[in-house]
Amino acid sequence: MPLLPLTGHESARSLVAGAVKTDRLPRTLLISGPPGIGKQRFALWVAQLLMCVDPGEEPCGQCPPCRKVLGLAHADLHWFVPIPRPKATDPDKAVEEAEKTLAELMADRRDNPLWTAPDGMASHAVASARLLLRKAALTSVEGGSKVFIIGDAERLVPQESSPEAANALLKIIEEPPRATYFILTASDPGRLLPTIRSRAVPLRLGALRPEQVGAFLAEYAKDDGAGSAHRSQSSRGSIGSALADSGSTTKAHEAATALLAAIVDPKGAPYELALKQRPWEARGEFSSMLEALAETLGNAARQRTLHDKPVKIGGTRLAADTGALVRAISQVEKARETAQGNVNPQLLLAVLAGDLEEVLCD
Ligand SMILES: [Zn+2]
Repeated sequence: MPLLPLTGHESARSLVAGAVKTDRLPRTLLISGPPGIGKQRFALWVAQLLMCVDPGEEPCGQCPPCRKVLGLAHADLHWFVPIPRPKATDPDKAVEEAEKTLAELMADRRDNPLWTAPDGMASHAVASARLLLRKAALTSVEGGSKVFIIGDAERLVPQESSPEAANALLKIIEEPPRATYFILTASDPGRLLPTIRSRAVPLRLGALRPEQVGAFLAEYAKDDGAGSAHRSQSSRGSIGSALADSGSTTKAHEAATALLAAIVDPKGAPYELALKQRPWEARGEFSSMLEALAETLGNAARQRTLHDKPVKIGGTRLAADTGALVRAISQVEKARETAQGNVNPQLLLAVLAGDLEEVLCD
C-alpha cells in the first residue's frame, strides 16, 4: 500500500517547492512542529519532490521515482525511525541488527501507512548512526539525489560510547556529501543535541485545521462521520493525536465489553477479571473504561426498549430488562464519581463487577 497523501502545510510546501526549483533547498533541514501533524510525512514529500523527474509545485506522483518513494522502495531514500537498542554487543552485528529492524518497520509501514508515535524506549542509538554513515558513504543507486530522513531526531542519543561515530555524524550533517540531503524532524527541538540543532536550517510546521484532520480521518481511518468529526475537533490539529485517541477508545470499549460478558456469563469470572486488569497507565484510561462501560450499557438499554428482546454483549445474551440496565448504569455512574478520589482502580472495578452482577443477573 502506498503512503497516504500529505495533508495540509500548504505554505511550507510552496516554500520548499520554490527552493527545489531554484536548487536552493538547504542540505540539512530540521522540520519541527507539534506531534502527529505529519512532519515525517512532509519529509517524505520533500524527498519525493527532490527525486521526481518532473517536479512542479508538487511531485508528479506518476514517474518511477515518485512511485518508489510512495511505496517506500526507493534505493536512495533512507528513513531512520527510533528503534529498540540492538542487543548485539559487537558493533558490526549491532549495525546489521539495526538494519534488519528498520527494514521490518518499513515493511510494516508499507502494509499499514498510518503510524503512531514510537515506543518510549526506542532511540537512534550508535548502531543507527553507524548504519547511516555507511549508507551515506555509498554513491546514489539511481544516480539522483539521496535523502536521509531522521524522524524524532530528539531520540538521537549522545553516543558517548562512540565519540568517533558521533563526530562523523555531526560532520556529515554539517557538510553532506554531493546531492545528499538530511531531513530531521522533531516535536521538541529544544531536546535535540545542540550540536545537531545548530547545523540544520529550521522549518516550522503548524497544526492542521480541524476540517483537514476530519477529512483525513473520514477518508483513511475507517471511521464513521460522527466519530471523525468529534475526534477532529478534539485533536488539536494533529492526525496523530486523533489516531492515538481512537486507539485508546477502542481499548476502553474492549475492556468494558470483556467485563460485561464475564458478569453476565454464569461461568464468567468477573472478580478475577477485574482484579487481574493490568494497572492503568493513567487515571484517564480507567475513567475512559468506565465511560465505555456506561456507554455500552446505555446502548443495550436503548436496544432493549426499541426491540424488546435481550441484547448480546460480546457474544453473551443479556437477559436483564430495561429497568435493570438503567440501575446498572447508575451503579457505573456512582463508580465514576468514586474514581475521582484516591482509590485503587482494580478494587473499585471488582466491587462494581459485584454490584453489576447483582443488578443484571437476578
Ligand atoms: Zn514524479
